[in-house]
Amino acid sequence: AIEITGLNKWYGDYHALRDVTLTVRRGERIVIAGPSGSGKSTLIRCLNALETAQQGQIRINGAVLDARRAGRIGSEVGMVFQQFNLFPHMTILENCILAPMRVRGTSRAEAEARAMEFLEKVRIPDQAQKYPGHLSGGQQQRAAIARALCMRPRIMLFDEPTSALDPEMIKEVLDIMVTLAREDMTMICVTHEMGFAQAVADRVIFMDQGQIVEQNPPEQFFGAPQNERTRLFLSQIL
Ligand code: ATP
Ligand code: MG
Repeated sequence: AIEITGLNKWYGDYHALRDVTLTVRRGERIVIAGPSGSGKSTLIRCLNALETAQQGQIRINGAVLDARRAGRIGSEVGMVFQQFNLFPHMTILENCILAPMRVRGTSRAEAEARAMEFLEKVRIPDQAQKYPGHLSGGQQQRAAIARALCMRPRIMLFDEPTSALDPEMIKEVLDIMVTLAREDMTMICVTHEMGFAQAVADRVIFMDQGQIVEQNPPEQFFGAPQNERTRLFLSQIL
């Protein structure tokens, strides 16, 4: 489980997260929505120890996430970014085996075998020897998902994974995410894909101005939004 309590984060004077408290159970699928600048990425980045909050606490599977434990806990948490963030000078396969070999000490042969399994899972085994720049956006994002899975994370974080993609490539990435969701992976996804939210989310969380304003199962979130700001947001995007 992920337990976030009283999280407050400032960038200089700017109060980016305000008293965020949230518990995500093992296997739960959460979608986070909200306007630009509402703190969605900041929250996700705190969960992966890419940012640190000045106040509050994050516990991941019972262990407090602090600077000292960030590395170890961080390796249980996979992250997929809007801009893929693959290493451009390495092939897809090399991207996938780097962290398992360096961080986990996995042998090259085993890391490669496992990487190929995950590249098959995201349906690009034929792209393994290519460099990221030679793949389509959708293929690159699927490679990024495979790379994250190679670390065998128990939690996957997605920050607008389809926002940089052309419309025809969005579905191929969402299909992979739906597969993961059906496999009981704990997932937190920042996305504007409300169809995805409706199909797989256990809860949709709406953030505005650094706060969690509303959180409900999708039927309620979309069918009967409680908060004025949620209603306004939904009227703009649906
Ligand atoms: P978007 O939908 O545009 O991705 P978001 O909800 O992910 O928005 P964040 O990226 O978390 O929003 O940013 C929240 C606020 O914090 C914004 O006002 C942003 O300008 C500010 N912010 C984010 N990162 C930094 C930083 N490194 N330094 C200073 N301010 C930052
Ligand atoms: Mg963001």
